[in-house]
Amino acid sequence: MFSYRHAFHAGNHADVLKHLTLVAMLKRLTEKEAALTVVDTHAGAGLYRLDGDYANTSGEAAEGVFRLISAQKQPAVSAKSGNSAPETVASALQDYLDIVQTFNTGGGAARVYPGSPFITEQLLRPHDKLKLFELHPTDGRTLDANIAQLEAGKRVAVLNADGFEGLKQFLPPPSRRALVLCDPSYELKSDYARVQTMLAEALKRFATGVYAVWYPIIPRMEAHDLPRKLRTLATKAGKPWLHATLAIKSGQAAPELHKLGTDAKPQRPGLTASGMFVINPPFGLKPALAEALPQLVARLGQDKTAAHTLDSGS
Ligand code: SAM
Repeated sequence: MFSYRHAFHAGNHADVLKHLTLVAMLKRLTEKEAALTVVDTHAGAGLYRLDGDYANTSGEAAEGVFRLISAQKQPAVSAKSGNSAPETVASALQDYLDIVQTFNTGGGAARVYPGSPFITEQLLRPHDKLKLFELHPTDGRTLDANIAQLEAGKRVAVLNADGFEGLKQFLPPPSRRALVLCDPSYELKSDYARVQTMLAEALKRFATGVYAVWYPIIPRMEAHDLPRKLRTLATKAGKPWLHATLAIKSGQAAPELHKLGTDAKPQRPGLTASGMFVINPPFGLKPALAEALPQLVARLGQDKTAAHTLDSGS
């Protein structure tokens, strides 16, 4: 069985990029009255303790959400103008931090980090639906128990099943509006190919769905190729796409990439960069990210290589 547990990584820079994008998408998709179905193919445990053993062992939130929260207390000075006027916080960043805050109302340091199921649930309306897949038995049980506390009834379903396989049963959704978040652990190398297969099939079943994929930027051929393959998939299907990346410090040098075969297992000090690829991005997502990403680099960046990219096409 898998050894990946998201509790070690909750609130890290990759979660920040993923969850900020998720919030920005949901804010826009819930502006229309028609019901929305959200499918989270790799849901995790739903809620995480930031003061618990897992989080303390890895300390990853210190390079992510904790840094953003402390930066919020000391507003950054605009790098552009160089003057001392505090920079306005990008609305997408503020929206994300506000959601995190709703899980930490007691004052003091943030202790709870909401995963994608709870972030999504916060933003959905009573007539929307949320389908959560989690295959790991322990995280699946924890997710079940966490969701049960919401007493959300049939609005939220937890499925202890394979999300790659299971997505198709919900496409197309009755309301013909859906957001799919695909956030695998990529613990198995085959996950990269399964993301592509799943999306190709999903686009055939439901071409107008919004499909968002998170992926790690690591020196592994499959990871390097994934955004390019997703771009080809979207372009062939005639669908618009958006691609955002965030790097907080230098990782393994990029030239190493071409030396790595498909079986290579590179040693790495920890994840330093990741990306989000969205097919059929909601209207307004790109300007929202264009405003927020430079602020993430300013607040989370640890060396000169800290950077973001934002591309789109149709
Ligand atoms: N999406 C979550 C969030 O943002 O809070 C984090 C998910 S974590 C990166 C990936 C999760 O996928 C893990 O909890 C893992 O147990 C689960 N998983 C791995 N393979 C799966 C599969 N084939 N189907 C469903 N879940 C799977």
